[in-house]
Amino acid sequence: MLSAALLTEPIRPPEVPPGTRYARWRERFAVLLGATIMDADGVLGWISQTVRGDMLWYAKYHRVVTHSVVGLALCALLAAWNARSWPERWLLPTLRPQGTEPAHRPSLRRLFGFAGSAAGMHFLGDAITHWGTLKPLWPVSQMDVQWNLVNSLSWPIFTLTLLAWAVQNQVLRSDAPRRWGWIVAALWLLLCGLFMAFRPHLMSAPPFT
Ligand SMILES: [Zn+2]
Repeated sequence: MLSAALLTEPIRPPEVPPGTRYARWRERFAVLLGATIMDADGVLGWISQTVRGDMLWYAKYHRVVTHSVVGLALCALLAAWNARSWPERWLLPTLRPQGTEPAHRPSLRRLFGFAGSAAGMHFLGDAITHWGTLKPLWPVSQMDVQWNLVNSLSWPIFTLTLLAWAVQNQVLRSDAPRRWGWIVAALWLLLCGLFMAFRPHLMSAPPFT
């Protein structure tokens, strides 16, 4: 979620007609859902355990159907549709936008872009780890494209992501040009990439195999 937020927060909201306010929270909601919805297939474990008494369906299908290009598109569409149609009154009072002017909703296409980018970051996050599978060409091919670069999201990546997110938040709230938000995101990606490239030399434990 944070990695997707880093790459979408600097996007400038569009101009809206006078007298209306832009429902920016819908874009963030699309990112939140797009970044997480594909792991909802984890519920297969619970279903399999209940129906069959083992974890076969989980082992066979978790991170397969939803972790393909087809699954990404469907998950992004579902996330975008949800983000567009979610009633504002259902938001927590602390999250509900202030103001009485009518809200201008982002288009489904725009929300699909946000959700799709977030889903892409989820793929990238899964691709670098060791756990499970990632099968972009399912059902045509069972090719697994995991890179096994890190065990789980190891602490340097996690710390870097949190740090970059905090810095970007400050930058975007300030009067600094919006491009600084992009620069923070680009630096973060670069540092994560460098960490993974040099990880075997930086940490005593060998890469997870
Ligand atoms: Zn996943």
